[in-house]
Amino acid sequence: MARQHGEFRGAAGQWRCAAHDRGHVHNVVRGRTNDRNESTGHDYDLAMSEQHDHHIDHYCGAAHIGVSAAAGAGPTLHYRDHQTEIHRVVVGSYENNVFIVRCRDTGDAVLIDAANEHEMLLELSSKLGVREVLETHGHHDHIGAVTEMRNAGYSVHVGGEDAHMLPSYDQEIENDQVFEVGKLRLRSIKTPGHTAGSVSFELMGSPVLFSGDTLFPGGPGATKFEGGSFDTIIKSIDELMFSPFSADTIVMPGHGDDTTIGAESPSLQAWIDRGW
Ligand SMILES: [Zn+2]
Repeated sequence: MARQHGEFRGAAGQWRCAAHDRGHVHNVVRGRTNDRNESTGHDYDLAMSEQHDHHIDHYCGAAHIGVSAAAGAGPTLHYRDHQTEIHRVVVGSYENNVFIVRCRDTGDAVLIDAANEHEMLLELSSKLGVREVLETHGHHDHIGAVTEMRNAGYSVHVGGEDAHMLPSYDQEIENDQVFEVGKLRLRSIKTPGHTAGSVSFELMGSPVLFSGDTLFPGGPGATKFEGGSFDTIIKSIDELMFSPFSADTIVMPGHGDDTTIGAESPSLQAWIDRGW
């Protein structure tokens, strides 16, 4: 997947993410984030005004960092709202996203996908208060730092059907399991299809869904590997993502840039028709 950085377009704060090839534009004006998807013409307001607690800052590309309000919060900050900070780093030759979800109130955090570059992940984990590691699935590019994270004392959780793909692990993730991260709640949703044990995570109280390699901008994850099933991944996406989550839910995948439920759901039938 080609990666391109977004470009910053002037002091008014209109950001166009070049990697969002369907014209996904973020407007940030005086602390207000209006997310407009040009292809669907669907406008949705991601944030209430600054007077409310539910202000959202959403940074969808590394090039934004440093020119935005995130500058003071460190170069890894990717998203922030009233309860949550989400940090993102991209690691390894497959450019895997590693997310650190952090409770702003208590400083507790969890790391999603100990993918690679363990020295950086260990340093960030220590700095940001990570307590545990959650794996979205067992593919090799998502688990390269599992051994080192476990050796450093972090417990690693993975969907049971994928557990055999890891060098070692601590606990199997059940469906609908709630992980407490300070005052945050991350809920597991078993979304098989890319692998048999793929898991997505809903950040309860924030409009964020971590999709692993199940859902990307432009379609489902690959199903050609062992344990993959196209019919199963379509069922997971349709019934467990598109149906229950609102259009403005931000989807943070295992590679590449964020998308939203509303940007992807109109394409479901086209994906079924093309067969991938
Ligand atoms: Zn994968």
